[in-house]
Amino acid sequence: MPNYNRMDIAFDHGEGAWLFARDGRRFLDFGAGIATSSLGHGHPGLTRAIAEQAARVMHVSNLYRVPQAEQLAERLTAASFADSVFFCNSGAEANEALVKAFRKTMADEGKPERYRIICADGAFHGRTLAMISATGNAKYLAGFGPAVEGFDHVPFNNLNALRAAITPETAGILVEPIQGEGGIRPAQIEYLRGLRAAADEFSLLLGFDEVQCGMGRTGRLFAHEWAEVTPDAVSTAKGIGGGFPLGALLANERVAQHLVPGTHGTTYGGSPLACAAGNAVLDVVLAPGFLDQLRATGARLRAQLERLVAAEPTVFSAVRGQGLMLGLVCAVPNTEVQSACLTEGLLVVAAGENVIRLVPPLIISDAECDEAVARLHAAAKRCRPAMAPAATRMTAKVPAK
Ligand SMILES: *Cc1c(COP(=O)(O)O)cnc(C)c1O
Repeated sequence: MPNYNRMDIAFDHGEGAWLFARDGRRFLDFGAGIATSSLGHGHPGLTRAIAEQAARVMHVSNLYRVPQAEQLAERLTAASFADSVFFCNSGAEANEALVKAFRKTMADEGKPERYRIICADGAFHGRTLAMISATGNAKYLAGFGPAVEGFDHVPFNNLNALRAAITPETAGILVEPIQGEGGIRPAQIEYLRGLRAAADEFSLLLGFDEVQCGMGRTGRLFAHEWAEVTPDAVSTAKGIGGGFPLGALLANERVAQHLVPGTHGTTYGGSPLACAAGNAVLDVVLAPGFLDQLRATGARLRAQLERLVAAEPTVFSAVRGQGLMLGLVCAVPNTEVQSACLTEGLLVVAAGENVIRLVPPLIISDAECDEAVARLHAAAKRCRPAMAPAATRMTAKVPAK
């Protein structure tokens, strides 16, 4: 069906942060399949885990115990705020589970009138019928009405607006600690803390959508950890399977206890194969020192991008984000920058607010970041507006390699 606007490239294989196209071209992958191929391509630990598990047993359904899922859930809860995990296959499904769990919690706590979820402008929560309503973006809703009831929207990073939107029908709050599709827009630390305070004050549930920013992407296992805030539930997906379809809802006991048998489920979710992939990803992400290294790599990359912005002010205007979830705000159309990057052999992903996303595999090296910055600079030169004042170019600093 014509629902995707695909670029005319087909990849043959990958190796680490590199993708090799069928026509022989070679690309440095700073898109990672939209922040998903967290261990890069052809990672030996991940591919071995998948191959071995596929040969043993791929799928049994949730009629039986799945030791791989039990192990993955134990590791995720041990490393996070959560008491329990529900596995599914995508980000949208993880968010669906979160909203269902919030509504069910309120219903079981004797407040069935509390079913509404407050979401933020600029959010992205997925493409299912309910999640396009949670997302609230008119572009994604157009033609798919009527919208699913029960989602209210407030400006992002505005605590007063959020508190003013709380009504006797509010069940909870769902926000991304860093908005991904919206343009790598980080929530302020004080905002995230204020959400917890508001949730406590009004007995609401606090949920974070960490489908994109979770699983180590920002340099902590979950991005909300930077704010030292404890949510009631977190949805995650993308990076959790390293490219294998897997999603998860993590929740505390207050929320999780209400998803009793028969209330929610999935045929594929939490299969031996998907969870073997998830465990192989965690083997890397939770290895001692890995996230420390990622934070250092991210900080170094960010400093280089700041220099690039200073050197190419007619093309870029700012850097934002955390860890290896970085965005370059463009001063020319971001799609032009994206095409120029492609020409230079660098894959990046466009996002809202005229941003290009740099979300490489979490295993990216400093040398590969240097290479990406050099290619970005070459791409920027292609994008300089024709009428840019020459003086701007002459005095521009060249970013260090
Ligand atoms: C990608 C994304 C989703 C949707 O995930 P799918 O796997 O495409 O359903 C939801 N929330 C956020 C923050 C995302 O980045």
